Amino acid sequence: MKEIKLHHKFNYTDVDRAFWAKHLEDWVPQRVYDSHIHIIDQSYQLETVSEEMKKSYWVQELQNMLSADVAGHCYQTVFPGRDVCCTGFGWPFLGWEIEGSNEYVWTHLPAKKWNALAVVRPTWVAEQVEWLLSHPGVIGVKPYYSLIGHDASSRDKYIEASIFDFLPHHQLEVLNDHKAWVTMHVPKADRLGHPENQRDIKEIRNKYPDIRLVIAHFGRSYTKPHAEEGILPLADDPGLYWDNSAVLNPEVHALAMEHIGPDRIMYGTDNPMFMMRGRRKWQGRSYTNHTSQDFYFNTNRESPEIEAGYTLYMYEALKAMKDACEKIGIGRDGVEKMFFRNADRLVADIEAHRDADK
Ligand SMILES: [Zn+2]
Repeated sequence: MKEIKLHHKFNYTDVDRAFWAKHLEDWVPQRVYDSHIHIIDQSYQLETVSEEMKKSYWVQELQNMLSADVAGHCYQTVFPGRDVCCTGFGWPFLGWEIEGSNEYVWTHLPAKKWNALAVVRPTWVAEQVEWLLSHPGVIGVKPYYSLIGHDASSRDKYIEASIFDFLPHHQLEVLNDHKAWVTMHVPKADRLGHPENQRDIKEIRNKYPDIRLVIAHFGRSYTKPHAEEGILPLADDPGLYWDNSAVLNPEVHALAMEHIGPDRIMYGTDNPMFMMRGRRKWQGRSYTNHTSQDFYFNTNRESPEIEAGYTLYMYEALKAMKDACEKIGIGRDGVEKMFFRNADRLVADIEAHRDADK
């Protein structure tokens, strides 16, 4: 059949159709909630990504963002016959027009019955956060350490910041009052397991218990050692939520399902990144991305026969999730919770609180 253009350099091919039919058609539930997707029209990018930046971190080469309509087209293509909705937010870098991109999500996402997070800068006063949360469909915020200050050459100038450096207490107070959703991409090269992150997450949970705190990417736990260090000490907190976006590693999915359980894990894609074609390999605490596509980071090519069989990263992630469910013994009820019901319940709680406030 014909290739369908998804977005940027990414297409949907017969390899993907066959992968879906073989592994996913009978397993992915009818309703899918993507808890972590970046949606923003490319016109909000203020400066093109420098070649230096592209070479510094692989994700920078994929900074070609999805508009709401293109995101809808991609969902229809990659989840055939499914009802898909999402929590979407812009791209949290100062090379983008942040205020405008927040306006974009609350203008375009509610029309599709999708929810939005506002990207929030640490310098913004409490009233600004209050104002962001007053817009249609805005259920919370997406803070990020690169919003502390701009650096056109690297994403990670502020990676060693503490969480409170980019999500200050005066904002947390407002978010707590609104019972808002906060998607937290943890800082630090040591990821979620860093003692300061562990301490700060616990402090947020104690001081601001009504915030719906969602730890993105299982705390950036892409390898098993990082998952053991980061997830295990926090797994028992019954009020902490986790999105599994960008996690391809079946061992990490299995560890999370075993220790967190299916009631607080939410499916997410991290698209557009995960429409890349290829696979990932892990060694100890590091990983290698393999892809057939033309990127700076793509220095570990595999044989043409292997590359010809590559499917989308997001399909590999779904398959990893499926394998982990089988290994841990998570049945249909748990699968449906992770794909839809957990996120849907969280959103319903936030909306009920918002209506009660009116
Ligand atoms: Zn993301």
